[in-house]
Amino acid sequence: MKIGIVGCAGRMGRMLVSEVLATDGLELAGGTEQPGSDFIGQDIAALVGAEAATGTGGVLIGDEAQALFQASDVVIDFTVPAATKAHAQLAADNGVALIVGTTGLEASHLGALKDASARAVIVQAANMSVGVNLLLGLTEQTAKALGEDYDIEIVEMHHRHKVDAPSGTALVLGEAAAAGRGVNLSKVSDRGRDGVTGARKAGDIGFAVLRGGDVAGDHTVVFAGDGERVELTHKASSRSVFAQGALRAAKWTEGQAPGLYSMRDVLGLG
Ligand code: NAD
Repeated sequence: MKIGIVGCAGRMGRMLVSEVLATDGLELAGGTEQPGSDFIGQDIAALVGAEAATGTGGVLIGDEAQALFQASDVVIDFTVPAATKAHAQLAADNGVALIVGTTGLEASHLGALKDASARAVIVQAANMSVGVNLLLGLTEQTAKALGEDYDIEIVEMHHRHKVDAPSGTALVLGEAAAAGRGVNLSKVSDRGRDGVTGARKAGDIGFAVLRGGDVAGDHTVVFAGDGERVELTHKASSRSVFAQGALRAAKWTEGQAPGLYSMRDVLGLG
């Protein structure tokens, strides 16, 4: 299976290049970076410290996404929302499967993925780790079981370079908790407290965000009742769990009908 990686010089892009080179049955079709990047023209294997002979055959980083889609069976995208939107169009035009890990997607970006899914297999997940996808199910189940007497707060911490907040994972955990309670997250979410906020509103789902160091991704869903607290926590200690999840999704696309899928579909947790 030929894998193309857009944004291959990013933190996740490099991890994906390493994992593809190390995985039997996968071939690195190539990688792109944004036009004007200093990485254009560099050897993609050298990017991760591997010898060009390890299987890339000296493939160079390019800036032409269309050519990469033509050369790939599956393209993996951990970039920025605007780029993801353009890549969704290319996936549809070329009938090539697209795995989207980019977070911070808004309605227009999600709409582009939905449109593209009429003609291509699209897997989109704010978190590709097996553990977080299990946590989503546990969060929904716990919220349902405990009911509104337990206040739900979601705390996340990520490395200092992360540009969106709360994390995409925190938001999908919020959606899972809201689903467990049978409410719409947009109606109950409290995403920032500062100053004299007044007492906590019953039924709200609160978010707290920490940034610092090299934290790959920590998430805790707190259910705070009178006299007890239940906390569900996931900690990623390496980005490789996200890359491995993305590759699992890439392999899963083979033989699937066009459509918009989640990691829960890939893992059979749907
Ligand atoms: P990063 O900034 O290190 O990498 C993003 C890369 O995309 C950069 O190298 C940038 O130059 C490149 N890029 C931007 N526009 C491009 C374009 N038009 N064409 C090609 N490349 C382009 O960021 P990161 O830490 O690797 O994270 C990337 C995204 O993945 C973020 O949204 C992050 O939240 C998300 N993420 C998701 C998961 C998950 O499991 N779904 C896990 C980790 C990170």
